Amino acid sequence: MAPGQGPDVLWSRSVRHPRAAMSASRPLRLIFASLLVLAGLALSVYWAGHHARQRALLVEAEAAHEQLGLYASSLRTLLERYRSLPAVLALDPDIRQALAGPVDSERQQALNLKLQQVNAAARTSTLELLDRDGLAVAASNWDLPTSYVGHNYAFRPYFRQTLAQGTGRFYAVGVTSGIPGYFLSNAVRDGAGRFLGAMVVKLEFPDLERQWSQTPDRVLVSDAKGIVFLANHDGWRYRELQPLDTFARLELAETRQYDRQPLSPLRHRTLEPLGDGSQLVRVSTEQGETDFLWQSITLAEDGWTLHLLRDAKDIQSNVMSARLAAAGTWLALVFLFLWLQQRRRIERLRQRSREELEQLVEQRTAALRTAQDGLVQAAKLAALGQMSAALAHEINQPLTAQRMHLASVRLLLDAGRADEARTALARVDELLERMAALTGHLKTFARKTPGGLRERIELGHVLDQALQLLAVRIRADQVEVSQTLSVPAWVLGDAIRLEQVLVNLLRNALDALAGIEHPHIAIHLRREDGDWCLDIADNGPGIAAEHLASVFDPFFTTKPVGEGLGLGLAVSYGIVHELGGRLEAANRPEGGALFRLVLPAASEEP
Ligand code: ADP
Repeated sequence: MAPGQGPDVLWSRSVRHPRAAMSASRPLRLIFASLLVLAGLALSVYWAGHHARQRALLVEAEAAHEQLGLYASSLRTLLERYRSLPAVLALDPDIRQALAGPVDSERQQALNLKLQQVNAAARTSTLELLDRDGLAVAASNWDLPTSYVGHNYAFRPYFRQTLAQGTGRFYAVGVTSGIPGYFLSNAVRDGAGRFLGAMVVKLEFPDLERQWSQTPDRVLVSDAKGIVFLANHDGWRYRELQPLDTFARLELAETRQYDRQPLSPLRHRTLEPLGDGSQLVRVSTEQGETDFLWQSITLAEDGWTLHLLRDAKDIQSNVMSARLAAAGTWLALVFLFLWLQQRRRIERLRQRSREELEQLVEQRTAALRTAQDGLVQAAKLAALGQMSAALAHEINQPLTAQRMHLASVRLLLDAGRADEARTALARVDELLERMAALTGHLKTFARKTPGGLRERIELGHVLDQALQLLAVRIRADQVEVSQTLSVPAWVLGDAIRLEQVLVNLLRNALDALAGIEHPHIAIHLRREDGDWCLDIADNGPGIAAEHLASVFDPFFTTKPVGEGLGLGLAVSYGIVHELGGRLEAANRPEGGALFRLVLPAASEEP
């Protein structure tokens, strides 16, 4: 359609340009967005991992610290329980007496039995009695192949400590039994306080180690030199936590502390100190490398250190799941963003096409209106054309009358009857006025009016105008027109177009009445609720039942070519519809057609 084409072309041009420019930068933008997403992913994974690791380390370190405290106190309690035992035994008169002089075999046997009994009752590992030279004169394990009796232990530090300061303690592997244990000793003195020998208690820790072995953690106890001598897992005992210097090695050889046990270094390095005594440590063994959260606590009295090593695998898996969660969350956010973006884009597209559609509808509506206006005008002119003979007659008749009047005026003037001539002239005037009114009305009726006009008009008056246009024909056809009107009937609309509708209806009725005896048109205007209802009924043949549904169709006509265009009712229907009214066709029960025009009533007040 021609009016739409201009804007269409304009529109497509204005849109195609930015889109072409956009497509050039599109790959760049895509790369940039992908990089951004990847950077965000890396950042969130790193951040979540770091955060989770710090948290897990903190939590694990706290738990390990607590655990370590428990282990330390259980070890201390165990040692404390036996610490006073050698002192108490050293006061035993039998023992003091025995060491006062040479020990014969009978006395030795009695002592052996006694120590054996006490050992069983106190649930210690071994009890032994050393004389002032460090020779074991009696022992609770006298009847075992590993018996201490007859061996000299003067080289053991605990004997030397006892000799020097009255008490001694020392952890060592038994040189006779090969079983490690903690030796606690107390000096045995006579009444004058002279050193007679030493009472020694040996404690072993299999129960403790068994108890500790139930935890997956490594629990180790190292001595002042950094040698692990207690461990809840095999392979961790007799390991050097730090390299020994020559002095320490000499001392070990002299005291035979770990006797025949081979010592091997525990290779480890700190990955990260974590504060409050804990650190992240990587331990290398034959099986490979393992990371541990390593915590230590010093047991001050014996120069021992208790260690707890917790596998960092759990922390690592925590970190892993935190990273996965972060990656998932980040990707979910990205997808949510993309989804929202997409939705917005679609919404924008929808909005644009809606606007375009509205614009198009507006254009088409305007075009349609123009076409409709043209059609209305064409139909009107067609009607006028068809009425032209009658109209010419309508104009011709007063002209003939006037010519006659003027002739009589001339005669009257010749006869000097001026007064009568004036009266005749007044009649000519009247006729001229009638003609002027008719031609004026015709001019108005033929004028092209744009659709959509809304003025306050009176339906009765419009009906008068329409009847006036058709007066000649009505008179010529000798049609009786009866009117029942309740006026004024104010409606909103376009007077000329409404008149066109009424002219159409009346002309159709006149056409239908051709050849009918006593032709009659009944017009009835009344108020019905909020509407004005105008009926135009005739006593013609009516409308054939099969045509009732089509009379308002454009170009539907039953009239011969040249007489009917089939536009009158179609155009009328459009006009009434545009004014918010209805136009209906029906047949009257008594015969003839009935056309009903219904229009919304306007207010009585202007
Ligand atoms: P046209 O008058 O040019 O035929 P219209 O649209 O005015 O076109 O009328 C369409 C047809 O409706 C007419 O040809 C006629 O068959 C029918 N019609 C209209 N008014 C009447 C009527 N009062 N009585 C019978 N038929 C009618």
